[in-house]
Amino acid sequence: MSAVRRAVLALVLSAGPAGAQALAPNELGRVMILEYHRLAEPENRWTRTPANFRHDLETLYAKGYRLIGLNDVIDGQIALPMGTTPVVLTFDDSSPGQFRYIDKDGQLVIDPDCAVGILDAFAEAHPDFGRKATFYVLPGASKPNRLFNQPEYEAQKLQYLVSHGFEIGNHTLWHANLGKYPEPIVRDQIARAEVWIHRYVPQYRIRTLALPHGVYPKQVAWALHGTAGGTTYEYDAILEVGGGPAPSPFAQSFDPTHLPRIQAIESELRHWLTHFDQNPGERFISDGDAATVTIPAGARGRLRPALPPGVKAVERDGT
Ligand SMILES: [Zn+2]
Repeated sequence: MSAVRRAVLALVLSAGPAGAQALAPNELGRVMILEYHRLAEPENRWTRTPANFRHDLETLYAKGYRLIGLNDVIDGQIALPMGTTPVVLTFDDSSPGQFRYIDKDGQLVIDPDCAVGILDAFAEAHPDFGRKATFYVLPGASKPNRLFNQPEYEAQKLQYLVSHGFEIGNHTLWHANLGKYPEPIVRDQIARAEVWIHRYVPQYRIRTLALPHGVYPKQVAWALHGTAGGTTYEYDAILEVGGGPAPSPFAQSFDPTHLPRIQAIESELRHWLTHFDQNPGERFISDGDAATVTIPAGARGRLRPALPPGVKAVERDGT
């Protein structure tokens, strides 16, 4: 580590991100991938209210978390300011409250109380928080889960997501429990979802799959890659529906075919935010440089054997 970087590190450690405690870089720490379902009233097991979602963003921001795209995590490209922690937002099932257009004085606008509207407004007010999320959509589901439930705006919505830095993921055509079906149906569910999404965003590469109900097919390979009905698919990661924070993408334990998530409900959020407040050494803390992976002294044995191209590990004492 250069003298300049050492000085910057000392400064950041004394100041820290807004409102957060100062933490030393640890890029072997764990990363939360949060999993939201409905955004609506009232709050219940599968529903977060718009007010509570706003509050979640405020809490994450104040504690030094910053949004990152899931694809960047998978690629090991963590380009965040020193002292901050990546967090990933995911939204399953394309329910209406996630993305809704409304008429306002004759103008078509994004509902400020839907997830996309809330994320847009929050990012505008806090540009350093970032604007990222992955939407696991259901293009062939029945109402109200078919591509956010406004058929006339399906194309506009998917194109908006892709052109504004959000990600689209596969959640199968209509939420099939992949553990129940033989290989041809599993592959058909995955491939046909791609076909439907690509009608609206033909150039977009769908890189991740979230398992409906968290259930794997009998062979994970059926979900990872293949061809069905003339459509070829290939995923870089498969997401589960629970399991806690994910390992660092630089850790030996990082397995992109089994990525755990945290359900974004009050009890789980409070549990894990408190956990990382009380165990800051377990939390991924960025070193501010996407080309180096700063790890605790003596932790090289926990690194995965091959780091992403161009990335090099540095122990925290500078060796
Ligand atoms: Zn689902």
